[in-house]
Amino acid sequence: SLKGKSAIVTGSTSGIGRAVAEAFAAEGCNVMLNGFGDPAAIAKLQQEMAKKNGVRVEYDGADMSKPAEIADLVAKAQAAFGAVDILVNNAGIQFTAPIEQFPIEKWDAIIAINLSATFHAIRAALPAMKARKWGRIINIASTHGLVASTHKVAYVAAKHGIVGLTKVVGMECADTGVTCNAICPGWVLTPLVQAQIDARAKEQGIPVEQAAKNLLAEKQPQLQFTKPEQIAGLAVFLASDTASNMQGTQLVSDGGWTAQ
Ligand code: NAD
Repeated sequence: SLKGKSAIVTGSTSGIGRAVAEAFAAEGCNVMLNGFGDPAAIAKLQQEMAKKNGVRVEYDGADMSKPAEIADLVAKAQAAFGAVDILVNNAGIQFTAPIEQFPIEKWDAIIAINLSATFHAIRAALPAMKARKWGRIINIASTHGLVASTHKVAYVAAKHGIVGLTKVVGMECADTGVTCNAICPGWVLTPLVQAQIDARAKEQGIPVEQAAKNLLAEKQPQLQFTKPEQIAGLAVFLASDTASNMQGTQLVSDGGWTAQ
């Protein structure tokens, strides 16, 4: 149980981040939500999560492409909960195009949100974790942190960067009671992936269901999407004492994608 602990989960208004926030709350952990979305829907999510689990759930709309807002997010969570024990760096975006046509502003945005935000959040949260001699930093990387695909130059560069950053922070925290590890999911059916499936269906003039099957068949031999709850379970595991010996490494859940 994570009773009495407090976590920040970036990008937790949707998809994997939301599932991670829900799993932590179910373990008795206070949660600071973050991400974009309809304010009324976010307020509802916040209230329901708090009520269902008897924990405190706060929200901050920090834009993860803005270093000052990330520092404020961490400070706000520390003030609200007294400490941030667990930091999950999850917010992320995608854009696909061959490198020659890849818009410069998309490169900059993906590097900022999918890579630099993790640096800024850890930089802000780590001193207090070290002082308390306990902390868990969990970075949501991707199979694209380990292998490449075409048309994803910024995403693959950012996710390989996350895997490298995770190793460095793990080493720097080695004997501090703080661990830093990454999770590498395969295809998870969230809005981020649905957009890619819809684009492929349109491009190829095929039904969306067929485009989803083709997407899986290309990469993920299990032919099943990884579930957000499965990634959330790994995050809960990494936050547990059982995982206290894991440092600077990656947990892969990808239906066989990177085994090939
Ligand atoms: P999603 O689109 O469902 O959720 C992304 C979340 O990030 C949302 O809450 C969104 O509001 C938030 N976000 C986006 N830009 C932001 C910004 N500038 N500031 C603050 N919040 C911002 O996507 P998802 O699939 O749940 O992805 C979550 C993470 O998991 C990402 O880092 C993604 O790269 C990674 N991932 C996803 C898959 C997959 O197949 N879906 C696979 C591997 C890794």
